[in-house]
Amino acid sequence: MAIKQEVTIEECMENVRSYIKRPENLELIEKAYKFAEKAHEGQVRKSGQPYVVHLIQVANTLASLHCDPKTVAAGFLHDTVEDCEGISEAVIAKEFGKEISTMVEAVTKIGNIQFKDEKEYQANNHRKLFIAMAKDIRVILVKLADRLHNMRTLQYLSPEKEKRIAMETLNVYAPIAHRLGISEIKNELEDLSFKYINPKKYAEVKDLVRQKESDRIEQVNMMIEDIQVILDSYNIDYRIFGRSKHFYSIYKKMVKKNKRFEEILDLLAIRIVTDTKAHCYEILGYIHATYRPIPGRFKDYVAMPKANMYQSLHTTIVEPTHGNIFEVQIRTEDMDAIAERGVAAHWTYKEKGSVRREIEQKEIEDKLSWFRDFSMMTDEESDDPLEYMNVLQKDIFEANVYCLTPLGKVIALPSGSTPIDFAYRIHTEIGHKTIGATVNRAIVPLNTELKTGDVVDILTNNNSSGPSPDWIKIVKSGHARNKIRAFLQHKEQVDRKDLIKTGKQMLVDEINRLKLSQDLIQEKRIENIVHNLSFKTLDDFYVGVANKRVSLQSIVDRLDTRKSSQMDDEAVIKLVNKNNETRSVRATACGVIVPGIDTIAVSLANCCSPIPGDSIEGYISKGQGVKVHRSDCPNIANEKKRLIPVFWADDLEEKLYEVNLIVYSDDRNYLLTDIVTVLQQQNTSLRHVDSKVNDDNLTTTTKLRISVKNGQHLQVIIANLKKVRSVVEVVRVTH
Ligand code: MN
Repeated sequence: MAIKQEVTIEECMENVRSYIKRPENLELIEKAYKFAEKAHEGQVRKSGQPYVVHLIQVANTLASLHCDPKTVAAGFLHDTVEDCEGISEAVIAKEFGKEISTMVEAVTKIGNIQFKDEKEYQANNHRKLFIAMAKDIRVILVKLADRLHNMRTLQYLSPEKEKRIAMETLNVYAPIAHRLGISEIKNELEDLSFKYINPKKYAEVKDLVRQKESDRIEQVNMMIEDIQVILDSYNIDYRIFGRSKHFYSIYKKMVKKNKRFEEILDLLAIRIVTDTKAHCYEILGYIHATYRPIPGRFKDYVAMPKANMYQSLHTTIVEPTHGNIFEVQIRTEDMDAIAERGVAAHWTYKEKGSVRREIEQKEIEDKLSWFRDFSMMTDEESDDPLEYMNVLQKDIFEANVYCLTPLGKVIALPSGSTPIDFAYRIHTEIGHKTIGATVNRAIVPLNTELKTGDVVDILTNNNSSGPSPDWIKIVKSGHARNKIRAFLQHKEQVDRKDLIKTGKQMLVDEINRLKLSQDLIQEKRIENIVHNLSFKTLDDFYVGVANKRVSLQSIVDRLDTRKSSQMDDEAVIKLVNKNNETRSVRATACGVIVPGIDTIAVSLANCCSPIPGDSIEGYISKGQGVKVHRSDCPNIANEKKRLIPVFWADDLEEKLYEVNLIVYSDDRNYLLTDIVTVLQQQNTSLRHVDSKVNDDNLTTTTKLRISVKNGQHLQVIIANLKKVRSVVEVVRVTH
């Protein structure tokens, strides 16, 4: 097979007709040609040639690979959707059917990705992305044929573009051609890339090869004659010919093995093609019986094919007269076709007259399952089939989705992964600070399942308090899960230590404030009440104190047994009346002064949650001392008799008060994240949150219980919450 340069449409069709005979297939291809010619009418390539010349070359390459009629048609049509106005996939589908339009669509999509960043692991990911996006082997063939002609005409582009495209070709396209075993395309792509990436070296190698060319041809021809003499004495069908290595592979060997040009062993190369497998080994035997093989250079890819299905016997022998070294490849015609055209040979379109449907079906399935395996494959092919299977296994179960950063870096993730997995794969800190994400420029929920080809942008906020425990359920990659777990565990430990310290300090402060003896809070004494207050351990107790799950007042009451907290209502009222003149000004624990009373429990009412700055009144409750309510609390509206005047202390210690808010808003993604961000910015802690989308599916009601310092602090928070996008109203509530 040789892929001819610059063929005419007549030559191309001749190539097509060499293996496609049915009139309906030929008609389809001709229709595609006519359609493309008309669609691209007036367009010229950078080379100045009419655009259709490019399409003819692409289709001709596909025909040289003996692709099926639809693929050849897709070759003609592959640039119509991208480059021609008014031609959509729908138009192609209508004219040529869904199969061809799907192929054209995939080719267009892949064409829109620039495979940048040339680190090896990235190139590997790019290849995977490419293959995964193609979905269909025929799309890859069209893309390779397209790239081949673009590389052949690369000199018409700017030098920077030349380099970029050449790098992309060398790192992504050529390895894919290699993986598919299409050595002719692979070799040409490599040599063309080499020429643009390293013009100096390319010229050097080319020169060296030229200088030695006539010598080499002579040596090869002599060797061929010698071998023919041997083989002709046996009854074996064969053909033998010399072959030349392409420039890039010579250069690679010089660099990789650090050898000078003269030392590259297999410059002299001979190939023998025969009819059967048995004859391959037989020929090998005759050659080894005559020439000394170089140890370690014999490879049996017939018994153990390469991952790309390549089969051949390789041996390197020394010719005794001049001491020249030859690499000899021995293979069957079938193996040779696969070596040249690779998987395309398996795909070869055959117009069969009377093949049974089931057989055809089975063949298609074999091809498809082969392709599935292929598309899962990652690392460079391995000579060891076991290792190859391992790689395959690993990939089937691991990396399956390939997404891009906005800068075009490919991130490989397990299928089902979310933007959170993506964020953690970029960087752990990015993961921790994630507050949202866009996929293909649209904002999406963080549990969105990513698809191959998605461009993902992660939104972060440095004030983010870190990953939410819910994320563990959302993420798919072990990597992200581990990072989130580690973060949460660490945070919990730090938080807990802080809380224990805070709880202890709060008790000490309270005892000091009440001018009571420090003895009261000896650990022994406290241990006695821990269980009564239904805490498991001492540490749990302190955490409870810090979290205000238990009031300081009740702790002190329990610790200070001298004090009686039992007092009925009548007694309270009497007390109020009796002590009305004494004007005690000592603030109680909650920061409220109850004139004349400092021996009974005073606490803030849960219903209206008053905070400093609110107008308040004391309510003498039944058996629970004085409850402080906001003056406008509906719960005390009809209880005038039991109310007493109370005041906020002037110099309040830094203390937090809890209030209830309701945020009414239009529903949208990340609303809660934004609300939480505002709260964090205002140094507020969220005690409780309950957010739900209302029945109308359009609006959201979010109930918050937050801690604030005072009324002023609360006003600032409310004002900022109202600024959050889509928030309609924020109200403080009583319940
Ligand atoms: Mn093209």
